[in-house]
Amino acid sequence: MLGGIEAGGTKFVLAVGASPYEIAARHVIPTRDPATTLADAADWFERQGRLSALGIASFGPVVLDRASPRWGQITTTPKPGWSGCSLAGFFERRLQVPVGFETDVNAAALAEFGARESGENNSLAYVTVGTGIGGGLVIGGVPVHGVAHPEMGHMIPRRHPGDRVFDGVCPHHGDCLEGLASGPAITARWGMSLSELPSNHAAHEIVAFYLAQLCHTLFAMTAVPIIVLGGGVMQTDGLLGRVRQHASLLDRGYLPGSHCQRIETPKLGEDSGITGALILARNA
Ligand code: ZN
Repeated sequence: MLGGIEAGGTKFVLAVGASPYEIAARHVIPTRDPATTLADAADWFERQGRLSALGIASFGPVVLDRASPRWGQITTTPKPGWSGCSLAGFFERRLQVPVGFETDVNAAALAEFGARESGENNSLAYVTVGTGIGGGLVIGGVPVHGVAHPEMGHMIPRRHPGDRVFDGVCPHHGDCLEGLASGPAITARWGMSLSELPSNHAAHEIVAFYLAQLCHTLFAMTAVPIIVLGGGVMQTDGLLGRVRQHASLLDRGYLPGSHCQRIETPKLGEDSGITGALILARNA
């Protein structure tokens, strides 16, 4: 039996299953301090029976280098108590099983990739647009890491002609993509979420304009055949279509085919991350 954890800033999703795409049981716990949260999670897994491996899809930033003594740790997060927390180490010791560890978005990319696998396409990008903007990239069936994991939400977009004044909310960069188009950026600027704003409000075009730049950049830089856009903001009616439109406008017919139509919603709905965690367990 495989175990999976999607570790988020507000909740931990736990699941077990015989294989990644067959979740047999799941449980959600609120994220509190590390000691309480991790002990609760371990208790739940112990009640499910004997695990063969555990996969953790974690919020970041995290250390993914298996050779590092800090592998499996969360590094610097504003979330009190969590900086330096060794997620993987805790569960290795407590549950005595092999542990796989990845970012939540790389795990989601693995799961969405696996849900589509067709032989000729061997890569996919997954981007979540919610409390933050994060992206995972699978190339050749393998999640991409460098010295760290991709931080594509912090790319600096061209500003929309009708949106020159807002400074952006990213504490590091101000008007990076996350600073302009994440859920908190939208609320900071317009006082409510995108789905609460009327459909003719300029916010819809502005947010789509920014997200399309990430899509265009991903297509241009990595030639991924598919980009999956998930997260709470993407559930706004009509947003996917607007992003496709703006990506197509940016591209001006340069890239081959109707690639902008291959900007998609998650096939696994809200289960991309937890399914990815179970894939990490299988691989471990
Ligand atoms: Zn930023």
